This record gives sequence, structure tokens and C-alpha cells, in this order.
Amino acid sequence: MPMVTVKPGQKINLSKINPNDTGKIKNKNEAKTLLAQNIERMAELQNILYAQNHHALLIVLQAMDAGGKDGTIRSIMSGVNPQGVQVTSFKKPTEEELSHDFLWRIHRAVPARGMIGIFNRSHYEDVLVVRVHNLVPEAVWQQRYEHINNFERLLVDSRVTVLKFYLHISKDEQKERFLARLEQPHKLWKFNPGDLAERALWDDYMAAFETAFEKCSPAVAPWHIVPSNKKWYRNLVISQKIVETLEGLKLEYPAPYEGLDKIVID
Ligand code: AMP
Ligand code: MG
Repeated sequence: MPMVTVKPGQKINLSKINPNDTGKIKNKNEAKTLLAQNIERMAELQNILYAQNHHALLIVLQAMDAGGKDGTIRSIMSGVNPQGVQVTSFKKPTEEELSHDFLWRIHRAVPARGMIGIFNRSHYEDVLVVRVHNLVPEAVWQQRYEHINNFERLLVDSRVTVLKFYLHISKDEQKERFLARLEQPHKLWKFNPGDLAERALWDDYMAAFETAFEKCSPAVAPWHIVPSNKKWYRNLVISQKIVETLEGLKLEYPAPYEGLDKIVID
């Protein structure tokens, strides 16, 4: 599938990656069938992940506003056991969070073994919004790419698989989605006038994303750029990658207690 997996140090030009791409998938119905299969398989694999209690999976979602982070979580996780998943949304840091290093709030939200954790935004905000708005001096955010790489390597070495997805939408698609929010009463709550100021900085954000992809895509935890104008395609690509990743862990149920075959229950 034409999801772009960034190679270590690879320069990315987001304007060259088509957000409308749907690869070999012809239409929404075809995607829906495949997505349903992936969701079912994910549920089976999650059950073993949880039982074995040996590996964790961390899924990081980043995107521009209205890029589809919430919708992705809703769709992809619709079949899994809620007991084995935890979603963390990272907002503007609190006073307390700001009085620590930028990874403090992130590290404590990393899923424990046996769990799937999803980050709705992440430590990457500290080299995205923070860079675009000069919230800290450049010398400070410049160092963060290396801190992030070291941090993620620690996670990988601790059996936390790190899957990072950028939901790639076009500026036009964002406009359509903002308009949809304004037109539908049940979506109005999602419209934040502040998002328009961020939209005006679109090109700065693209540059900040491109740097993050280039600098923070080690072979053990690369960025995956997912064409996301079509929600059905986005959900399919991401679910597919999650299934393949869990399959690759060679998960196994733990050995049962000995002598279970001789047990009699009155
Ligand atoms: P939302 O995801 O729509 O609820 O918005 C969350 C807001 O928090 C976004 O505008 C983010 O850019 C902002 N945010 C998240 N992390 C940080 C951070 N580390 N520093 C500054 N703003 C952040
Ligand atoms: Mg928002």
C-alpha cells in the first residue's frame, strides 16, 4: 500500500505525497470488507498480547487539525477489548507538566506490557507547535530530536513496539472538514476558532513535520505517512500495519499451569 515509511535520515517533501491516494483499493466497500477482517484479527492478537503480558504496543497519531486522529481511534479500536487499551490525548501542557522535562508526561503514559496504548498527539508536539510558535528557544527544540530518538530507543529496548502514523490530508480537505463541523450541529463542538490561526501557518507546520520525519525515523521506529483524505483508506492502511506488527511479535499464550488435565471440578 502506498503508505510512505520514512527511512533513517530520509528527506521528505510532503507536497509530493498524494493525500488522495488509495493504492490498489478501488472503493469504500472493498476497503470496508478488508477493514472488518483486520479489526477481527486485531482483537484475536490483542487477546494474546494481553494474556502473554510480555510486549506492549504504542501507536502515535499526529496530524493537522481535522486530520482524523479521533476518527481513526474510533474505527481502528472498535473491536478490541477496552481493558487492554488506553488512549491518551496530549493537550497544551499544564503548569505542572511545564515544570518538568517535555518527556515526563509522555513517559508515564507509555503502555504497560500486555497493553496497547494510543497517543492522540504526543511528544512530537514539542517539535511541531512548539517550533512553529517559538514556545521555547530554537536551541532547546533542536536538541529534542535526539532526546526523542533516545527515548524511543529505550522503549523499543523495553519491548514496547512504537508505531508512528502521520495522517496526511491536504489543505483543501481540512477546509472541507472545518466547514462540515460548522454545518452540522453535532460537530460544532469540535470547531475551535483557534484552529484557523494554525491553518494560516500550514506551510510552517509542513516544514516542522518534514524535519521530524527526517530526524526521528530510526529503523526501529520509523514514521509512516498515510494518505488520509479518504477516511476509509486511512483506516484500512493503519489497521493493516497494526495487524502486521502484532503478527511480527510472534505472540503466544503463556503456558498453562501444570496438571490442569487432571483437575476435577465437583
Ligand atoms: P485538540 O487535539 O484539538 O484537543 O487540541 C490540543 C491542542 O493542544 C493542540 O492545539 C495542540 O497543538 C496543543 N498541544 C499539545 N501538546 C502541546 C505542547 N507540548 N505544547 C503546546 N501545545 C500543545
Ligand atoms: Mg482540535
